Amino acid sequence: MEFAVFLDVDGVLNTRTTVKQTPYGYTGIDDARVEILAHALEKYGGGDIVLSSDWKELNPKHDDYVYLVSKLKKYGLEISGQTFDSNLERGKGIKEYLEQHSEIEEFVILDDMTFDFERYKKFWERLLLTNGIENVKFASRTPAVEAILFLNFIHVFL
Ligand SMILES: [Mg+2]
Repeated sequence: MEFAVFLDVDGVLNTRTTVKQTPYGYTGIDDARVEILAHALEKYGGGDIVLSSDWKELNPKHDDYVYLVSKLKKYGLEISGQTFDSNLERGKGIKEYLEQHSEIEEFVILDDMTFDFERYKKFWERLLLTNGIENVKFASRTPAVEAILFLNFIHVFL
């Protein structure tokens, strides 16, 4: 049973009050939040991290991308893949990714914005809305089991 987390970065691994900066001076990533993600994923039994964040647009050699990779690596996490989207249609990007990766049977979406997710019932039920990963809530009133489990695993470490 392959599990994946579709990961947004800004608003999940940082918030507007984050002081840390990337090499290029953008809002950085908080170690404590990466640690929460790593623990929750471990508790779930492991899984892939698929970047849905705009950070995916960076060249992998870009200093900020290298910074992201190094922040994740510190807690044993690595990026397995990324979605492709445009016009703020992150849901569409995830749909296409899942079509190309039939091995993924369970997933959650971590994001601080709703984008087009509500257009896809399956995504809405698996969307965990954050204001920093520690402030996490279900998007749907009828969340999927994996969303319920993952949210609980986040809470375990708070
Ligand atoms: Mg965001």
